[in-house]
Amino acid sequence: MRQIGGLPHSCFANRRASFTLGGNNMATDAPAISLVVPCYNEEATVRAFLKAAQAALDSLQLPYEIIVTDDGSFDSTWAVLKECAAGEPRLRAQRLGKNCGQSAALWAGIKAARGRYIVTLDADLQNDPRDLPAFLKALEHFDCVCGSRVAARQQGDGWVRIVSSRIANWVRNKLSGEEIQDAGCTYRAFKRECVADLKFFKGMHRFLPTLVKMEGFTVTEINISHHPRFAGQTHYGVWNRLFASFYDLLAVRWMKRRMFRFQIVEKIN
Ligand code: UDP
Ligand code: MG
Repeated sequence: MRQIGGLPHSCFANRRASFTLGGNNMATDAPAISLVVPCYNEEATVRAFLKAAQAALDSLQLPYEIIVTDDGSFDSTWAVLKECAAGEPRLRAQRLGKNCGQSAALWAGIKAARGRYIVTLDADLQNDPRDLPAFLKALEHFDCVCGSRVAARQQGDGWVRIVSSRIANWVRNKLSGEEIQDAGCTYRAFKRECVADLKFFKGMHRFLPTLVKMEGFTVTEINISHHPRFAGQTHYGVWNRLFASFYDLLAVRWMKRRMFRFQIVEKIN
């Protein structure tokens, strides 16, 4: 497993998060894992997703919670969530007042998460909850583990999507000085410290690996499965996938270039 970009960008020489899965440096009732899921008009997928996620989490035999943020759905997503959460306190759901976008829904979920480890993934089963053990294994060596669909792309996507994703990743890497294979993949696992100081903005979900590295944490990518959507439909087209994030990319490039890099070498008192 390769660390993305060698040393972290930050002036915090090594902020490596210190806790382990079995550690006890969190509130005692905190679950080991928080699964964080943004969900917008997913009435056709969310029930199957929850079933698959619960099965994968149960097999880990660790305390967990699933946090689903309904991003202002106008279908019956919220009603399905209410039904699934009845008598299942490990399923926590929250509903945003209006559709705010995937980044906002993700961020709202991350803020609500109580786990030592936070895992983010989509609600449509394109990401496979059975990949969870691979993420946890990689977290033994890195603070943040990002899924890459590159090796499995052909199983889940058509050629327009594959080509637009390749272009987007190439441009993003070129302009932000990164070497991330699949920045658009939001199936990720990280120690909770990684996001404690992050600033949020629309579209940030595409830049999370860079932002986490800027905070001084170690980041890697692992290959994951990728399935076609079995129901519902994507919320993105070429326009809002490829072009909308260009503006954000320039901001991230600016931030990365202008950030402080210093080291305190001696201290008195
Ligand atoms: N999503 C969201 N708010 C939005 C758009 C998407 O919460 O405004 C969620 C969506 O329900 C899914 C995830 O973000 O769980 C990824 O969306 P989608 O499957 O449409 O993206 P794709 O896989 O096509 O990139
Ligand atoms: Mg999807």
